[in-house]
Amino acid sequence: MITSVLTQKKTPSQLQLYIPGTNCPLQSQVSLAKLTSFRVGGPAQWYVAPRSLEDLQASFQWAHYQKLPLTLLGAGSNLLVSDIGLPGLVICTRYLRHTHFDADTGRITASAGVPIARLAWQAAKRGWEGLEWAVGIPGTVGGAVVMNAGAHKSSTADLLFHTDVLSPDGSMAQLTSQDLGFSYRTSILQGSDRIVTQATFQLKPGAEPKQVRSLTSQHLSKRHTTQPYHLPSCGSVFRNPDPYAAGWLIEQIGLKGYQIGGARIAERHANFILNCGDAKASDIFRMIHHIQEQVEKHWSLCLEPEVRILGDFTKKQKNIKPELAT
Ligand SMILES: Cc1cc2nc3c(=O)[nH]c(=O)nc-3n(C[C@H](O)[C@H](O)[C@H](O)COP(=O)(O)OP(=O)(O)OC[C@H]3O[C@@H](n4cnc5c(N)ncnc54)[C@H](O)[C@@H]3O)c2cc1C
Repeated sequence: MITSVLTQKKTPSQLQLYIPGTNCPLQSQVSLAKLTSFRVGGPAQWYVAPRSLEDLQASFQWAHYQKLPLTLLGAGSNLLVSDIGLPGLVICTRYLRHTHFDADTGRITASAGVPIARLAWQAAKRGWEGLEWAVGIPGTVGGAVVMNAGAHKSSTADLLFHTDVLSPDGSMAQLTSQDLGFSYRTSILQGSDRIVTQATFQLKPGAEPKQVRSLTSQHLSKRHTTQPYHLPSCGSVFRNPDPYAAGWLIEQIGLKGYQIGGARIAERHANFILNCGDAKASDIFRMIHHIQEQVEKHWSLCLEPEVRILGDFTKKQKNIKPELAT
């Protein structure tokens, strides 16, 4: 049951707000730079990080009641958030962390916040094949489903048995791979207002754990030698325009090492933009446009961002003040 006022509990030092009917703290003006892998971006007007499905449902309903714009955040490893931050409520799903391995069916069910790389190692340890490719992806199960994350010629779509999603009206539905309209690094859930709460993957149990672990390790070492993991980034910025690799197109026009403010095109992989320490989201945004212009000019190809760009990039920095309906 939604109430129009927030529960307020006094702590010695401050007044803490909670999502109505829960013990789930509601915070305002939370820096999203700390919660995204690019390490840039302004604050969330409101922020909540539920630890249970009930708290997630209550947070979702509260945002709906308050008519607040809603943003879902997993591990934040594929997001570029504007320097002025995001209006409305940001729900972070990374603390939803239940995992179940069903040895009879070979299926793994994991809550939205489980790191997909951790799942890959846990499966390898059991000798379950299928998730080895996911080891270098720093996202959550929810983010992997929404983005159809993939690597080494495999993707989430190949393994997903079904996923549970929560709709704004509070109803839950179970969607299969076919329902999700998966294609290259996308699904119908991208930009929708439905939340992935958990997903079930079909793996192949029965292999020698040593072998699965070895393949998983090989994938990880290959990534560490070919991709820059030492500085903040979002991984590949652009989708590969078939049949070309975006990184190759960018490299061929001499853009490796090119820098705008604190944002630099990686020497090791030209489809990575690195935050060299003091980048603003606007530097990265300008770099994305610069690359698109240059690739269009030289190759007559339009590079489409894989990274999800959130918030307003036209206005100068200002605070979005917390205001609530009472
Ligand atoms: C170093 C590095 C390497 C990478 N390598 C790869 C790679 O090889 N392959 C690949 O595919 N990606 C790669 N990525 C990108 C990224 O890790 C993936 O896209 C990942 O799946 C994003 O998951 P996330 O939890 O971080 O999602 P976020 O970045 O937090 O969100 C991504 C999108 O999903 C939505 N979302 C997140 N959780 C939910 C949820 N529970 N319900 C509904 N919507 C949700 C968000 O609103 C957003 O639209 C890499 C990133 C980095 C930093």
